[in-house]
Amino acid sequence: MNITRGEIAKRCLLLRCPNCNAGGQLRTWFRLHPQCPECGLVHGSEEGFTFSTTSIGYVVALLIVVLPVCVLAVLDVLPVWLAVLLGIIGPIAVSIGLYPLFLSWVLMTHYVSTAEALPANQPNAPPPRPRNSKPSK
Ligand SMILES: [Zn+2]
Repeated sequence: MNITRGEIAKRCLLLRCPNCNAGGQLRTWFRLHPQCPECGLVHGSEEGFTFSTTSIGYVVALLIVVLPVCVLAVLDVLPVWLAVLLGIIGPIAVSIGLYPLFLSWVLMTHYVSTAEALPANQPNAPPPRPRNSKPSK
């Protein structure tokens, strides 16, 4: 394998292409480009590839916002009205603010588990070239 699983994980967590290491994989804050703008690698050919991003957001918001706020309310460190307010606003802010991180996690889990299928990891794979360049003869 030309690109190891560790390298793929690093590239994906930095929102770079796991195949060619190009940046710019985000189309918007909430969406990936359907394919890499450089090498054309299709991100998740199946429908709903990034659906699990929302689930990751729920779990992260629960762990870093809701549970600590509940503990602080039970210990009378926070008044209940503030705990309720933080419990409502906090998860929304975390889910929106960290959405690209969750997308990178989904990319990483997909491509690390299918590392052998990456074009750059195929036997005799040519080095990735920019999409607009002409193939050599
Ligand atoms: Zn690429």
